[in-house]
Amino acid sequence: MVLSMFTHPARTEPAPYSPEPWPEIGETWKPEGVTIVERYANLAGAVVLVYSADRDGYHHVIACLGCHHLVSRNKDRTYNTRYTLEDAAKVANDHASTCRALPRDIPTRPDDDVARKLLHQWVLSVPRRVEPLTLYLSDFDEERLTLQRTNGWIEKELQGFAAERPDLLSAKPSEYSSSIEFTLLGKPS
Ligand SMILES: [Zn+2]
Repeated sequence: MVLSMFTHPARTEPAPYSPEPWPEIGETWKPEGVTIVERYANLAGAVVLVYSADRDGYHHVIACLGCHHLVSRNKDRTYNTRYTLEDAAKVANDHASTCRALPRDIPTRPDDDVARKLLHQWVLSVPRRVEPLTLYLSDFDEERLTLQRTNGWIEKELQGFAAERPDLLSAKPSEYSSSIEFTLLGKPS
């Protein structure tokens, strides 16, 4: 019987969802909206991440999942303060080789209502000046492990916020790219 060659023993269907092994301390964590570029282990095994949240992947953030070390800008510089991958790797490695913090729980993903409120709070926390101020998605780079949302989601929600608060925020298509340009309006005098 040739056909019998093609008969396989009954197999159970794989479960549609298999959770990550517990506890997750960041070795395999893929938070929504960011690209994890590198991972280092600190002296106690906690993970130090290098991630990028922008569409082009030029800017990098260093985040320790043991202590709360989180940096997106090089404070020793006046210009080009954002980290290239090379610089970020060095900072992450230096931190990992001195940090003794135990792994803490990785941040849980907030639901949409909570994420939206967080985003609104961050916009409201930007110091408002007399002059209008362009807001870039990259201004929120350090919040992305808390927010865990895509750039598209953030843009859509910021547009919604601009519609709700036209006195505070404007949103219009950028002249230079396909993205939306957000402006924190000048403080009324
Ligand atoms: Zn640390």
